[in-house]
Amino acid sequence: MSTVTLTINGQEVTVPAGTTVLDAALGAGHFVPTFCHDPAYPGYGGCRICVVEIKGARNLPASCVTAVAPGMVVETDSPAVMEARKTILELMLANHPVDCLTCEKSGDCRLQDYAFRYDVKAPSFGGDKKNYEFDDTNPYISREMNKCILCGKCVRTCQDVEERAVISFAYRGFKTKVAPALDSSLAESACVSCSRCVSVCPVGALGYNSLSGKARVWELDKEQLTCTWCEAGCLFDLVRKDGKVIGVAAKAPGDGRPLCLKGRLGLELRYNDEPLKPMMKKDDEFVEVTWTEALGLDDIMEKLK
Ligand code: SF4
Ligand code: SF4
Ligand code: SF4
Repeated sequence: MSTVTLTINGQEVTVPAGTTVLDAALGAGHFVPTFCHDPAYPGYGGCRICVVEIKGARNLPASCVTAVAPGMVVETDSPAVMEARKTILELMLANHPVDCLTCEKSGDCRLQDYAFRYDVKAPSFGGDKKNYEFDDTNPYISREMNKCILCGKCVRTCQDVEERAVISFAYRGFKTKVAPALDSSLAESACVSCSRCVSVCPVGALGYNSLSGKARVWELDKEQLTCTWCEAGCLFDLVRKDGKVIGVAAKAPGDGRPLCLKGRLGLELRYNDEPLKPMMKKDDEFVEVTWTEALGLDDIMEKLK
């Protein structure tokens, strides 16, 4: 295997040829922020928050799509890099709601983390705000596109991992938006509710309905378990608050493949601490019924009496 030796922040680093500058820097223990990068399907280079300074280069290249070269000298935190990252964050925040006080993602949000890290306190650019309707039409997943930073990770995971391509970029310029075909709601689309897209979203644009409003991120304990419903053995997080299971979340790629809906819901049922209450639709309304009625066993039970 041929290798390449370069210098990153004054440290000599040797990596296999073809490695990206991002992976070389991360592997050597240097921090580089990313929004759109995903180890499961690398090489996108859309958000550009991972820019670095390379001696002799005319601009600041995105490290996730730049291959290492022999003798390359890289700075990941030079003044020019810091300034570029601040500008990118300010542009993102200029049309972002910034309602971190009530956002479910607060405490686990990359936009919030990087704003803190690079001291971007408030948007310094004025501008139009997006005003999309909250999409809670899917029983399992909610979409708040005003918080979307257009990183494209959900689009790629739906297309490349789930191989369904339910969602894509729609419109252009400021109006660019991630949406199902014809800008329909998720419920009207071909979405199978696998929740892979939720597991990769770096901000609060996508969320689990089952966890909504139940806890702040820092109140949650997560236990990694392996699904046993099929031979794939997907990993998931059993989510607890105060020792009580409140839901099941998919693991993002990189920590194992996320769950299918069958696995996630099956495990939510299995680990649910609340007694289950069967519901049936009667006169267009769901009402609580007995288990024998829900399973259509009332007639048989009557005969057994
Ligand atoms: S997505 Fe992040 S930055 Fe935006 S409101 Fe939520 S926590 Fe705040
Ligand atoms: S839940 Fe699955 S199928 Fe639906 S949009 Fe997200 S990744 Fe695609
Ligand atoms: S919904 Fe989330 S993952 Fe999808 S493009 Fe927007 S920020 Fe990225």
